[in-house]
Amino acid sequence: MGNDFSNLSDSVDEIKDRLKISEDIVDDTCPMCGGTGWVFDLTDGRRVARRCECYTDRRRTILHRYARIPEKYSHCTLASFNVEDESGFIAPSLARASQISREFVDLYPAVDRGLLFIGPCGVGKTHLAVGILKTLIEEKGAVGLFYDFRDLLRMIRRTYSPDSEISEFDITDTILSADILLLDELGSIKVTDWALDMLTHIIIRRYNDNKTLIVTSNFLDEPKREGEERLEDRISYRLRSRLYEMCATVEMSGSDYRKNHNKKNTFT
Ligand SMILES: [Zn+2]
Repeated sequence: MGNDFSNLSDSVDEIKDRLKISEDIVDDTCPMCGGTGWVFDLTDGRRVARRCECYTDRRRTILHRYARIPEKYSHCTLASFNVEDESGFIAPSLARASQISREFVDLYPAVDRGLLFIGPCGVGKTHLAVGILKTLIEEKGAVGLFYDFRDLLRMIRRTYSPDSEISEFDITDTILSADILLLDELGSIKVTDWALDMLTHIIIRRYNDNKTLIVTSNFLDEPKREGEERLEDRISYRLRSRLYEMCATVEMSGSDYRKNHNKKNTFT
C-alpha cells in the first residue's frame, strides 16, 4: 500500500465524479482566468497554459466541503490537540498518539497502513483522527470522508426503503472511491449479520484497492475492567483481524491512566 500517488492529481471534475457531487463550483470572478481555471504564460514567444491559483483553491474548497466532517469537530486540528491530562501533566499515551499522527500525515501517501485509535471516551481519539483527515486534505490534496459508524449503517439501511432516491451503491461507491475513510466510533452499536457483511465488504474492498482507513473505537482489545466487551466482540473476530492488517493500533488512555494508578476502580 501507499506508493500510488496518482489519485492526488485528480482534477475538480474527477473529484466531483468520485464524490457524486452535482453542485457547480466555479469562480467566474477570478481576475486571472475569468473562471476557466487556466492562465497563460509567455515562454520563448509561445503561450503555455498552466493551472490558475483559483483552481487549486476550488479543488480544496470542494474537498473540505464534501468531507462530511461534523460541525462539532470544526475546531479539531493536529495543532490544537492537547497532550496534557486534567492536572496539567503530559499524558504519555496522548503525546505518543499525537506524534504518530503527525508522522503519518508527513509520510502520506507513502504509508503502509492506516491508524486505529482506541481508548475510553474523552481522550481525543476523534480529535486526532479529524486532525489527520483535515491535514491530508489541506497539505496533500487527498479525497477524504468522515463517517460516524452508526450513521453510516443507518444511511445504508435507509436506501433499502422503496422511496429512497439513492441506492446503497451510491453510498458504498463514494466510500470506496475516497483516498481516506475516517470511520468514527467503530463498534458503537452491535452489528447484525447484515451490517457485518456490508462493513466487511467496504473494508476488504478498500484494503484491496490500497486505500487508507482511519478508525476510532471506544472498545479495547484487552478491556481494563471486568465484564467490558472487546472490540472483536463488537465487530467479529474476522473483521478485527482484517483491521490488524490495515491499521496500526494506537491506544490512548490520557488522564484515566493516572487515575487508575492513584485510585483503582475510578476509571471514568
Ligand atoms: Zn483563476
